[in-house]
Amino acid sequence: MTVPDVHPLDDLIQALRRLPGVGVKSAQRMAYQLLQRDREGAVQIARALDTALQEVQHCAQCHTFTVGRLCAICQDEGRDAARLCVVETPADLAAMERTGAYQGRYYVLMGRLSPLDGIGPRDIGLTELLARTAEGGVQEVILATSFTAEGEATAHAISEACKSRGVHVTRLARGVPVGSELEYVDLGTIAHALVDRR
Ligand SMILES: [Zn+2]
Repeated sequence: MTVPDVHPLDDLIQALRRLPGVGVKSAQRMAYQLLQRDREGAVQIARALDTALQEVQHCAQCHTFTVGRLCAICQDEGRDAARLCVVETPADLAAMERTGAYQGRYYVLMGRLSPLDGIGPRDIGLTELLARTAEGGVQEVILATSFTAEGEATAHAISEACKSRGVHVTRLARGVPVGSELEYVDLGTIAHALVDRR
């Protein structure tokens, strides 16, 4: 139960509940922990959040998180502009990068289609993605969305939209286990799936 008449504490608990998977009990535990045992940590979190909110934005080209207008990959002239790899999250982009097997460019959806959660094509920037494929000599769109039902549905929707515009589309090969988030798949498997893409 919340402590009565301590509004800032209630506000903190309500704020923490906004985090995914955090219910009332967890939010209370977090709030008590920060205020009772770790005020230094609480200050650190507050400052980091404040700074991140002010400085972190989406890359104007690929939509990943970055500081400044363009991320380092989009600024890198050495990257292959003919290939555009579509991933769900910045973490998936990082996983692809760690393989060292990909030298093209990216488009980060910042999510995936999820009709039940009200996330439709507009929310994942499908229109911007299609506009991006129409410019800058993109010859191949590589779909590296997760191998979950929603990731597959997302890949399918993008694939259909690209094909209707004559854009060549490939999908990471099936070496990646079904149900996987790319972020958690080992690097060798991703690299193979990239080489064997169809
Ligand atoms: Zn970028």
